[in-house]
Amino acid sequence: MSSHRRRTKIVATLGPATDPPDVLAAVLRAGVDVARINFSHGTPDDHLGRIARFREAAKRAGKFAAVLADLPGPKLRVKIPAARTLTNGDTVGFSLSAQPVHADDLVLTEPEVLADVRPGQRMLLDDGRLQLEAGTADGGRLTARVTDGGTLQPNKGLNLPDTPLGIAAVTDRDRAALAVAARAGVDWVAVSFVRGPEAANEVRAAMAAVGLTAPVIAKVERPEAVARAVEIVHAFDGVMVARGDLGVEIPLERVPTVQKVLIAECRAAGKPVITATDMLDSMRENPRPTRAEASDVANAIFDGTDAVMLSGETAVGKYPVEAVACMARIAVETETHLRESGIESGQDCARPDRGVDDPLAVVACSLADEVGAAAVVIPTLTGRTARLVTRHRPWARVVAVAPTDAVLQRLALDWGVTPVRMTPAGAGGDRMTTAVKDAFAAGTVATGERVVVLAGHPIEGGPLYPTVRVAKVGEGGESVEP
Ligand code: ATP
Ligand code: MG
Ligand code: MG
Repeated sequence: MSSHRRRTKIVATLGPATDPPDVLAAVLRAGVDVARINFSHGTPDDHLGRIARFREAAKRAGKFAAVLADLPGPKLRVKIPAARTLTNGDTVGFSLSAQPVHADDLVLTEPEVLADVRPGQRMLLDDGRLQLEAGTADGGRLTARVTDGGTLQPNKGLNLPDTPLGIAAVTDRDRAALAVAARAGVDWVAVSFVRGPEAANEVRAAMAAVGLTAPVIAKVERPEAVARAVEIVHAFDGVMVARGDLGVEIPLERVPTVQKVLIAECRAAGKPVITATDMLDSMRENPRPTRAEASDVANAIFDGTDAVMLSGETAVGKYPVEAVACMARIAVETETHLRESGIESGQDCARPDRGVDDPLAVVACSLADEVGAAAVVIPTLTGRTARLVTRHRPWARVVAVAPTDAVLQRLALDWGVTPVRMTPAGAGGDRMTTAVKDAFAAGTVATGERVVVLAGHPIEGGPLYPTVRVAKVGEGGESVEP
């Protein structure tokens, strides 16, 4: 097993460009760990079909991969049938209802939000590429003056960075998306335009209503969310630094700093964090990225992100497979540099947790360094112990041995974790020995390698005392004297 196995995970947005079966198989081979389905685009049948085909392809590839359902949230989008040109100085009308008042009025997905807009506030279209200044509302429509014109494509977003949004955290469109996500049995849910920690339980309640159990990621992309980042990290199960809308909603120059702060908070809390948007954007059109884009991916990894994400590059780009392969190469190269520059496990991560589990995770990582272990093998029922270990970023492989598809697939997002199916040890059996055998059978540890095994619950059905063990992998994957 190569010691250069990639640690940083890759999230790729599925779309028309990944639909051909050979492309889907190729992006998985090239390194996709998590498939993102953006419920802002496409129909329920598109999403169900894409998820089912991704599951099949992952199974054929023998890989535990996750599906992440990205909810539209209270993201306003412009519903126009065809592209339209907006010229500087022109006045544009927005209908305050679902029907246009004048024939060429723009209609929004959530028109009621326009009631909160005041004259002089900015209205930004298509990630800020087009800019308008709000005028007054009258006769069922709001007028606005175009200050930065351009071509508006259908279904592009509208950002209102100056307008406090009164709209609910979970919209009707989100509920409809969750019903589809529940049918597909997705592994992660991401919530757009989170404004505060309360949204986590609102989303969980909406998920329970449709029978969906999955961890929930907050997309940080509103100024309110940046201000309440710590509370949001604690309330949610993970975070996405959603730089597309974030860079429109707050001054662009603050985005890199916010990225670093969010990643550090997630590391401290042991929750996965995804760095998203525009990472290799020029690869939508070109087979190679710009130098700046390559640096952006590497720098997110230096910051400590769990995962890096592709959006339009894979959903609608011309080079989806090349984009994933390129991202994977940058990740491996960056990790190699980090390792060779002698950064030690766990040295760059705060330890607020004074309990027993986290200190044991630290010990397992430094023990793995000290004894030259190839892997930390972790039998885990929920994935929690694996997350505690991996937040310290050990260079030894983290092999999480878990019993259910749901837990294994979720772990596909976490930095450095290789998910392996658990064989039940049988009542009173040694879970730690069985986990090493499972890791061996899956090809993640080899005969003669040293491993550190960490279990919160070492004996099947037995007492709950956490245990750390050092062993060598024997001929048939059995644990022998190290
Ligand atoms: P978000 O703010 O949630 O990221 P987005 O509009 O930026 O939404 P992305 O998922 O980042 O969308 O994808 C980038 C672009 O790829 C979109 O603007 C859209 O044009 C296209 N796209 C994404 N998913 C699909 C899809 N399922 N079908 C068609 N086009 C898609
Ligand atoms: Mg986007
Ligand atoms: Mg967004």
